[in-house]
Amino acid sequence: MSSPLPLLEPWQQILRQAVSDPAELIRLLELPDTLLSDSTQANLAFSLKVPSPYLARIRKGDPDDPLLKQILPIGQEMVPQPGFLTDPLAEMSSNPEQGLVHKYRDRVLLILSGACAINCRYCFRRHFPYEENQIGTEQWQKLLDYIRRHPEVTEVILSGGDPLATPDRRIIQMLRDLEQIPQLKRLRIHSRMPVVIPQRITPELTQALGMSRLKCVMVLHINHANEIDQSVAEAVKYLRDSGITILNQAVLLRGINATISDQKSLSEALFDCGVLPYYLFLLDRVEGSAHFDLPDEEAQRLIGELQTQLPGYLVPRLAREIPGRKAKTILAPIQVQVNE
Ligand code: SF4
Repeated sequence: MSSPLPLLEPWQQILRQAVSDPAELIRLLELPDTLLSDSTQANLAFSLKVPSPYLARIRKGDPDDPLLKQILPIGQEMVPQPGFLTDPLAEMSSNPEQGLVHKYRDRVLLILSGACAINCRYCFRRHFPYEENQIGTEQWQKLLDYIRRHPEVTEVILSGGDPLATPDRRIIQMLRDLEQIPQLKRLRIHSRMPVVIPQRITPELTQALGMSRLKCVMVLHINHANEIDQSVAEAVKYLRDSGITILNQAVLLRGINATISDQKSLSEALFDCGVLPYYLFLLDRVEGSAHFDLPDEEAQRLIGELQTQLPGYLVPRLAREIPGRKAKTILAPIQVQVNE
């Protein structure tokens, strides 16, 4: 196992100091002031949040930077669009217990934390009632009972918000409790933390996950190659060296990663640091995100073209989540025939 990452600052401190004022963001990134007036209303609806390690990867003076566009509130979010809903995946109807979503037969998802290290403008849970889904000590016992009563459940997914916004001590205790349930085989963690604040990957957490009897899978959420720098690569290496399987899922976002060159660079950068591209999701049509949307056929052509430029293991599966379905819906690539 490689040595732990040097912790220059505790991750909690970095999180506490995240930039949440659009004026400060615009000043730090030397952006035009016109962006400020455009951000006001959207920022009130869903506030800006970006911590320093992620901020450092955004190009100064570039309003089109693909990382900036993921986090900067803009006026377009406030324009209502038909078909864009507050709960696009109808999660509230699969929420049998506070803090637990049971959509697919063999997996349950636990909403471990309503907090995130970053607020992504396209987030499908941007309107989720986290305050009604907090897991206190008593509720945690109820969730363990729910899992025991459902022997078909073999995998627990920790989600959020960002589950890694929860302190190590609590996650490790939860892991110990889950390990006691014999039917469980796997623990999956969906997190943007290793990308947004790589310092979050502490030795305590990594060792506990790596040594658990539950096979641990961490699904990162990286949308653009520019999100990966040396510190992210080191965090991923540390997780992998501890025996944790690392996959990536991205969301296809107009203006951010919807070109062949963006997707190719992303897959290659992921593979360079030992991460396999797993899913490329079509946007979940959440209110406020319509400007990121792409027609299905355009996405299918993009993946079809990507298949001609990369080996199969570097081409993510194009998928959409459709409420009520028992599994994700995979969209077939469309390849354009060229007559020679
Ligand atoms: S849940 Fe994920 S996508 Fe949504 S704001 Fe948090 S980190 Fe971003």
